[in-house]
Amino acid sequence: MSEHLQILLKDIKEPDLHTLEGYEKRGGYQTIRKVLQMDPLKVIEEVKASGLRGRGGAGFPTGLKWSFVPRDTGKPVYLLMNSDESEPGTFKDRVLLEKNPHLCIEGMLIAAWALQSNWSCNYIRGEYAYPYERFNNAVKEAYEKGYLGDGVFGSSFKHDMVTHRGAGAYICGEETGLIESLEGKKGQPRLKPPYPAVVGVYGCPTVVNNTETLATLPWIMQHGGSEYAAIGTEKSTGTKLFSASGHINKPGVYEVELGYPILDFIKNECGGILDGKELKCIIPGGSSVPVLKADELEGVNLDYESIQAAGSMLGSGGFIVMDETTDMVEVALNLAHFYAHESCGQCTPCREGGHWIEKIFKRIAFGQGTERDMDLIKDLCKQIGGHTICPFGDALITPALSCMKKYPDEFKIKIERALNGNPVKATDLHYTF
Ligand code: SF4
Repeated sequence: MSEHLQILLKDIKEPDLHTLEGYEKRGGYQTIRKVLQMDPLKVIEEVKASGLRGRGGAGFPTGLKWSFVPRDTGKPVYLLMNSDESEPGTFKDRVLLEKNPHLCIEGMLIAAWALQSNWSCNYIRGEYAYPYERFNNAVKEAYEKGYLGDGVFGSSFKHDMVTHRGAGAYICGEETGLIESLEGKKGQPRLKPPYPAVVGVYGCPTVVNNTETLATLPWIMQHGGSEYAAIGTEKSTGTKLFSASGHINKPGVYEVELGYPILDFIKNECGGILDGKELKCIIPGGSSVPVLKADELEGVNLDYESIQAAGSMLGSGGFIVMDETTDMVEVALNLAHFYAHESCGQCTPCREGGHWIEKIFKRIAFGQGTERDMDLIKDLCKQIGGHTICPFGDALITPALSCMKKYPDEFKIKIERALNGNPVKATDLHYTF
C-alpha cells in the first residue's frame, strides 16, 4: 500500500487511543488549549484558509458555512455533529467514533469556540450502538477531567456536550431532518431557506457538521490552514476517508490525499478485484451518486472536481466496487428498495414514486418486465427530480437512471427474455426482497 499522510487515522490501530489517557499521551487536547487563546473569528479565518470542505457529502466549504451564523442575536448558537452515517457503502465516521472519539470531541470544541457555542450534540445513527457507547464514554471522561462543562480547560468558556442516538432513519442525516428529530419530532426535512445557520434548533442559529469534518479541525489548527491547503489539489484540499467495499480483496476505511488516482486506490489500497476478476464499475461516493464504468476511470482522481468531470460525485466517500459478474438490474433494484423504504413520506413524488420505481425494477428483475418499463421509470424520475423538499428525491433517482444509462442492455435482455417466454427465474437472483 502507498504511504499517505494520516491526519485522521494516525495511531488508529493503538488499542488505547479511544481513552482520554491514550489520546492525551499522543498529543491530544493540546490544540484546543491554544485555540481557546485565539480570537474566535481568527479560527474561522484559519479554517477558511484550509479550504476544508464538508465531508458528509455536499462538500460545502466549512469556514464559509460558519461565517453565515449571525452573531450577537441574543440567542444561543448550537453545534451539531452529524454522525447519522447511513448512506449505503459509507462507514468511515464509525471508525472515528469507535477508535478516536476524543479527536471528535476536540474538533467539536474547536468549532464551538469559533462559533461561541455553549452547547453541542453528537447525533449518532441509531444502529451504531458500539460507536455510541465509545463516544459517550469519552464525553464522560472529558467532563470528569474538566474539559467540558463550566470553565473548559480552566478558561471562562462554558461548553456542554450531549450524545443523542437516532432511531434508524436514513433521512435524519439530512441536516434539517436531524434537527427536527433532535427536537423530538418526526425526522422530516424542512423547506429551505431559512437555513439552519440562521434558524436551526428551536429557531436558533445552528451549525451541522459531519463527524470527519470536525475531526479534521485539531490538525488544521495545530499546523495552520495554509499547510492543510497545500495537501491535495487546489480546490479539493487535504486528505479524505474512503470506506471501500464490494468485490475487492481489502475492504476497509482508508485515508488518502485528495487527488489520488482512483485506479491506484483500487489496486493499492483495495488490493485489487476479488478472485482476479475484471472491474466492472464503481460507485465512488455513496449509493446516491452515479455509477462510473471501468473504462471511464482512466485519469480520474479521488477529488471533487475530477470525479464531477467524469460524471459522478465524491459524495461521502462510500466507495463501492463491482466486478464483471455484477447484475446491474439487481443493483438498481437493491438501491431502489433502500430509497423507497427510507422516504420520510412528506412529498408525494418521493413517497409514491420511490415505491413505483422499486416495483418496476422488481418486475424486470423477476422476469415480468414489459416493453415500456424503462421509459416508465425515466418518466417517473422526471416527476421526482427537483420536485421535492429535500435532496432525497434526487438521491433516489440517481442510481436508477445511471444504472439504466450505463448498462441499458442488461435491462433490455431481461425484458426481452420475459417477452419471449423465457423469463429470468427468481432463483437466478442474488438478493431476496
Ligand atoms: Fe421526505 Fe423524500 Fe420529501 Fe425528502 S424528498 S422530504 S425524504 S418525502
